[in-house]
Amino acid sequence: MSQIKVNVISLGCSKNLIDAECLMRMLKDVGCEVVFEHPADEHFDTVIINTCGFIGDAKEESINTILEWAETKKEGLTDRLLVMGCLSERYRKELPAEIPDVDGWYGKTDWKAIAQDLMHRNPACARYDRVITTPRHHAYLKIAEGCNRFCAFCAIPLITGRFTSRPIEEIVSEVEMLVKRGVKEFNVIAQELTSYGIDIYGERCLGKLIDAIAAVEGVEWIRLHYAYPADFPEDVLDAMARNSNVCKYLDIALQHSSDTVLKNMHRHIDCKTTRELLEKIRAKVPGIHIRTTMMVGFPGETEEDFAELMDFVREQRFERMGAFAYCEEEGTAAEKLEDNVPEGTKSRRLEELMALQETISMEIQESKIGETFKVIIDREEDEFYVGRTEFDSPEVDPEVLVRKDKKLTPGDFYNVKITEALPFELIGEVTGD
Ligand code: SF4
Repeated sequence: MSQIKVNVISLGCSKNLIDAECLMRMLKDVGCEVVFEHPADEHFDTVIINTCGFIGDAKEESINTILEWAETKKEGLTDRLLVMGCLSERYRKELPAEIPDVDGWYGKTDWKAIAQDLMHRNPACARYDRVITTPRHHAYLKIAEGCNRFCAFCAIPLITGRFTSRPIEEIVSEVEMLVKRGVKEFNVIAQELTSYGIDIYGERCLGKLIDAIAAVEGVEWIRLHYAYPADFPEDVLDAMARNSNVCKYLDIALQHSSDTVLKNMHRHIDCKTTRELLEKIRAKVPGIHIRTTMMVGFPGETEEDFAELMDFVREQRFERMGAFAYCEEEGTAAEKLEDNVPEGTKSRRLEELMALQETISMEIQESKIGETFKVIIDREEDEFYVGRTEFDSPEVDPEVLVRKDKKLTPGDFYNVKITEALPFELIGEVTGD
């Protein structure tokens, strides 16, 4: 069979990106020529869109992307259009009638079926072998699929299914393979990390997994994303403290601080316990940078609840924080509640909360002037090299712009002294040799 050229487009989060990378590896394995996110300026035999179905905006972006690529089919630039991912998994019954131009709909992890349908051959590569689309020195590492938490506002468990951990040995083998390919930084991800192990080992063992990854020679940075605050396994903090290659960074979504809102959100934690946990995290891992996410406008959120959230954010001074306005998702527990916070109020609260966080973030950025940090260089631009410290996750956190006083190599680490701070960037210069 002749080789076919496939363009893979991935939308949504880093977990989705890993699915696209696994698919790409399998497609290569069965003989396809594969490109990633190529613009529609040449002919492709097949375009595969890996969709996101997390919230309303993401669904809209997915649908618009499918429609844009459907147009290229009409223009003769694409022969076949396939769709996979969260949106497709969730609405596989409804979507084919809505968008008939799509030639095939697949679920989140139907990589093998796609490879077989395209080339009539079974891929021989391991399930988690994948093409790395991120810069060569860093990769995402997915340690579990699914989520059993069922927060009232979240549709993810309906899309991804039950929480399923990958065995420690399998993850460590993947890390060893990626280190051989040049990866130095591992951004560990899952819908929620903190249940890791409970389904296959009968206990939470994220700490043990961190120790195992940290012990692999060549692993320079490990960064943890998406911890859940209730039942937080504290041995994780010990593992973070004892392994010098674990970044002092934790992405832990808190969503709110009002007990009433937290209860209505089914978060299984109250403000006092959250506060105690944050104290423990900061005491056990001094200097840690905490990234969190908050939600405003959940059904029933009063002005008092919102004021409590503002006070909490003022008090905690999170190094990084994102926020969303509540958006009703079908099939979730919150769908049964009246969406009674007016849209204008949601937007106003979101703006106020983010304005507060901007002030806090800027103060934290400015406090870094004069300090020297280990920085990994991601890329070279016209005026600067662009890198990150251990406190900065790719794509979401501030970057460090390093003056081009000397030649630096992307993927290498340098000590950089910070000379200026901007809201989303630090500027610095390399110190020493
Ligand atoms: S823990 Fe995260 S993924 Fe799971 S239901 Fe809650 S918000 Fe959704």
